[in-house]
Amino acid sequence: MSGLLVAPLPSAPAPLLDRLERDLGRAFALPVRRSGPVAEPAGAWSETRGQWSATDFLRALVARLPPPPCRLLGVTEHDLFVPVLSFVFGQAQLHGRAAVVSLARLRPEFHGLPPDDPLLERRAAKEAVHEVGHTFGLVHCLDRACPMSLSIDLPDLDRKTAEPCPSCSALLEGSLEMQRARAQAEVEPR
Ligand SMILES: [Zn+2]
Ligand SMILES: [Zn+2]
Repeated sequence: MSGLLVAPLPSAPAPLLDRLERDLGRAFALPVRRSGPVAEPAGAWSETRGQWSATDFLRALVARLPPPPCRLLGVTEHDLFVPVLSFVFGQAQLHGRAAVVSLARLRPEFHGLPPDDPLLERRAAKEAVHEVGHTFGLVHCLDRACPMSLSIDLPDLDRKTAEPCPSCSALLEGSLEMQRARAQAEVEPR
């Protein structure tokens, strides 16, 4: 199965998922479908940090991967961390098939501002394109408008678009081409 599955982990607003799936489909030119909810992995909560382990979330998604080359993106409301950072907006397997995005810090209300759903949806879509881009082997881009540029804070994220820049698009096309060739080789063994 080709394409990308989007899984609420364990829940995310439906209009936000609609927007994110549309932008992912456009950025990667792949079919995007919604999967059923995925439960938080047992043991991912850190009492000392008051956050959830991004690595455990990614591991839980890897355990539920659909058949290759389909990718799986989890979208969670939970605030995620990795041990060396105070938080992460998301995490992905570079050249892998699993990625996760956290909505917690994308919400204006997390920062004491009034809720703004359209802003939250735009942020989530850009962050989703970024993490899924890593699964296609894309690394951080220096173009600040490109979704593959590194965001360490919300102003960084708000500066981006959801459309990969020409150079990331070219790399992505190469990666998709390789994926298609591999799938073709499996259909026609020689
Ligand atoms: Zn990144
Ligand atoms: Zn780029």
